[in-house]
Amino acid sequence: MIVDMHVHIWKRSMIPDSLLRAYLEPLLALDGIFDLSNDRQNDWPMSQVRAEDLVEHMAISGIDQSVLLPLDFGLVDPPQTGVVEYNDWVFEMAQLFPDKLIPFMGIDPQRKEALDLMVKYIKRFDARGIKIYPATGFYPNEERLNSFWDAVDEHGLVVLTHAGAAWGPLEEKYNRPSLFSDVLDKHQNMRLVVAHMGGKFRDEMYQLLAEHDNAYTDISALQGWLPSNPEVAISRLQEASRRIPERVLFGSDWPLFDLAFSHANWVRFVKEQPWGDESMKERLFGGNFVRLMRQ
Ligand SMILES: [Zn+2]
Repeated sequence: MIVDMHVHIWKRSMIPDSLLRAYLEPLLALDGIFDLSNDRQNDWPMSQVRAEDLVEHMAISGIDQSVLLPLDFGLVDPPQTGVVEYNDWVFEMAQLFPDKLIPFMGIDPQRKEALDLMVKYIKRFDARGIKIYPATGFYPNEERLNSFWDAVDEHGLVVLTHAGAAWGPLEEKYNRPSLFSDVLDKHQNMRLVVAHMGGKFRDEMYQLLAEHDNAYTDISALQGWLPSNPEVAISRLQEASRRIPERVLFGSDWPLFDLAFSHANWVRFVKEQPWGDESMKERLFGGNFVRLMRQ
């Protein structure tokens, strides 16, 4: 079994212009090589990402299940389509592929309506988790968020947080894994997944996981190293298998890296490179996910 802990789908109108531009910046650098000038809004392969496209990619890559993470950037730069429509759409799309797609919510905890929305998706769709993005403007350990974490704990949700670098109008200072330490202390039913192995704050990620059994991490975005420096990706995987063998999860951040290094190649790389034995690979690809969702 292969589970991808970290993928996104969206319609163009659901992502604010400033964020789409920031995410695409590395690709815009290729503008001179390819002719990317005609109608970026609509023709860009990543300006619209449908569930059907994802399922097709999963079949090619050999991925059995993927966790869908809606992105709520609306408090920083409101997109044309709001947070409710985006989440509704993700949950409805997931219903078309119930054995393949696992939808999480994507709601900024700073929203006044955050708790109401959370309850709505739990009741209506049995939502199991929520994606958050501190770089939209909150420190996870701020007092104003206490009732949000209490509700997460009460419902036993899995929280997936972005960690590491921030782009465009987002601020990196909020993206530190260490800021979750008190939150996890006080909320034992909550499970946290720190995305991207913590990114540039990898040491803090390891520290957090050492102190909290209910904290996990995913390896998405590691494939950014593959074109230029695959040894780094291998050494990060070796390090994780040594230090946190039970709490590291496979992830791709699809479709963000797909143009540079395909989904299928990423799966093949992790499967075939000698960074860990078969039982470790099985844990990374699915065993640890089962444990995370059951705990
Ligand atoms: Zn992501």
